[in-house]
Amino acid sequence: MLDDNLRASRKTAHQRPELQLSFEFFPPKTDAMEERFWDSISKLAPLSPRFVSVTYGAGGSTRERTLRMVSRITSDTGVAAAAHLTCVGATRDEVDEVVRGYKQAGVNSIVALRGDPPEGVGQPFTPHPEGYQNAADLVAGIRRQGDFDISVAAYPEKHPQSADWDADIDNLKRKIDAGANRAITQMFFSNADYLRYVERAQKAGVTATIVPGIQPIHSFKQISGFASRCGASIPAWLAERFEGLEDDPETHALVAAAVAAEQVTELLDEGVTEFHFYTLNRSNLVLALARLLGRRP
Ligand code: FAD
Repeated sequence: MLDDNLRASRKTAHQRPELQLSFEFFPPKTDAMEERFWDSISKLAPLSPRFVSVTYGAGGSTRERTLRMVSRITSDTGVAAAAHLTCVGATRDEVDEVVRGYKQAGVNSIVALRGDPPEGVGQPFTPHPEGYQNAADLVAGIRRQGDFDISVAAYPEKHPQSADWDADIDNLKRKIDAGANRAITQMFFSNADYLRYVERAQKAGVTATIVPGIQPIHSFKQISGFASRCGASIPAWLAERFEGLEDDPETHALVAAAVAAEQVTELLDEGVTEFHFYTLNRSNLVLALARLLGRRP
């Protein structure tokens, strides 16, 4: 049984003024996908997120679409939009031009990333000879261009290319010191990994918030594929929960909701008040999770 005090503290979660939510989307490729994108945005916008962010395709492949989506979110919904930006395969001037485009479109928030090489995630990264060297360098470049709100990436299970934990945390610190306002984590499924990571970062002098990136599992097969590509592990207990549900979408959806609910309420009980949701352009599960955290339209 849940302790009554714990349940009461969850019940009053909506009264916590500091609760901050953000929602990540990817730029849609087709008209049908675009319809779902705007439908989801319209359902999530009334939750007053800090921002709705739109990713930047590998190697800048969605440059125009990302700009079009963030411009429209800003102008049509009144919700702040954050544009992701990577520095793969581009000169500093080219990246700076994208930053100017965001600024002109009224987008004041950027998620600044190094990105992955065209050969794929996990392959060695070689910066463009005239480009930004890494995410910290990019953050400094964006700072030189204006007063943007900047988020950077963090990895509760360590970035696959970091030599060790010290190197990983040093890199996070460099990004914050270069001017980032916060870090958002890669998806993770063991809250202990996240909490340990935050502790490591704080011990190293990182004072900025490290916002947990929550990935609801709409499709276990798809999400485990994403996870293995980005170096996030799938704990055995999680795989067991979804085992045999490939052809049973209803039970799969219920298990997915229960797993994500458990993750966010546990983090809330640990004192976490800022959450970033990887929506995959869907709204249902995220709407339910926001409600559990005490946020309603
Ligand atoms: P960095 O912080 O530059 O670090 C990358 C690696 O290099 C780390 O291992 C770091 O320790 C090492 N490193 C950095 N500087 C040095 C140095 N000077 N010397 C030695 N080692 C160094 N990708 C996209 O393509 N588009 C997106 O829209 C996108 N959005 C994302 C959003 C979030 C919240 C997250 C968590 C990731 C996102 N990614 C996106 C993925 C990201 O681009 C990859 O994870 C990429 O591999 C690393 O990017 P980074 O910004 O963390 O790089």
